[in-house]
Amino acid sequence: MRIRWILLVLMSLAATAAAASHVLAQYQYQREVDVAPPDEDIGGGYVTPEVQRPAPRAAWWDVVDMAALLVALGLSAWLVLQRRSRNWLIALTVICLVYFGFYREGCVCPIGAIQNVSVALTDPGYAIPLVVIVFFLLPLVLALLFGRVFCGGVCPLGGIQELVLLRPVEVPRRLDGVLGLFRYVYLGLAIWFATRPPVDRDFVICRFDPFVGMFRLAGPADIMIFGGALLILAVFIGRPYCRYLCPYGALLSIFSRVSWRGVTITPDKELDCGLCAEACPYGAIEDMRAKTSGCLFCARCYNWCPRGVVKQEAVKAITTGSSDEAKASA
Ligand code: SF4
Ligand code: SF4
Repeated sequence: MRIRWILLVLMSLAATAAAASHVLAQYQYQREVDVAPPDEDIGGGYVTPEVQRPAPRAAWWDVVDMAALLVALGLSAWLVLQRRSRNWLIALTVICLVYFGFYREGCVCPIGAIQNVSVALTDPGYAIPLVVIVFFLLPLVLALLFGRVFCGGVCPLGGIQELVLLRPVEVPRRLDGVLGLFRYVYLGLAIWFATRPPVDRDFVICRFDPFVGMFRLAGPADIMIFGGALLILAVFIGRPYCRYLCPYGALLSIFSRVSWRGVTITPDKELDCGLCAEACPYGAIEDMRAKTSGCLFCARCYNWCPRGVVKQEAVKAITTGSSDEAKASA
């Protein structure tokens, strides 16, 4: 059963990647035109600084990034829906934070890709790299299948907030709902700014990304302060950027509303004891069920479910052969 499930995930991902690369093959990656005049035209022994001639991003890095995203999404889905392990999900979160965040310096990311895709759809002269399209589409496809898998263990912006959440405070549901609308406003504004004529075009999502400066260990002071303030807030309010500002989170919410399946808190049947609702720091449990649009795939609620804990202990006991009672309770 488990193998079948893993195969289904991997086949879905592979089919999506193949379809995306086929459909999008028309988009040729083109290096930007080098606008700096050649040294000999300038004369006087002038040598153009290296910084004006950035080396093109090695193509194999794109392949590595796409493969890493595919594997990380598959693992995130499997760890949350099948393995039901928060500990392993945290391990994946740390790995993705280090790789996509600090090592790849937060670029390419699906959140910023909203702007590239918007421009590509409105400006036929704009060449969009395949890696950007794949990063934009894959998490959305996973959201259609399972929910917000990308937010669970893959996104470095979500990961950095997840790791600092130590003293969660509940946000009143109505306030949470109103603040959550800002994500849609920001999404609309970001698309509008990105699709203006080239001379006025602005990628505001990247410019005001609160965490990319931390990943790069450099950035404008005001943005670094903004990011720092958000992280301090995130110690008490679960993932404030994700819930109230992230424009890609808004898209993922929409897609996950119709997802094929999602988080079910109890492992095999519903108990309706209500303990899980207290465990969710994102207000994503309503009427003792996880709302797919708001569930950030953090797997916290599993640890609070008495049925889940009993079952895990029983399975452990069976595998170590230590208790007949445990077999009965599993
Ligand atoms: S809501 Fe946005 S920032 Fe948060 S984890 Fe999801 S994609 Fe990342
Ligand atoms: S329902 Fe809440 S606690 Fe459970 S996985 Fe979703 S976000 Fe996490």
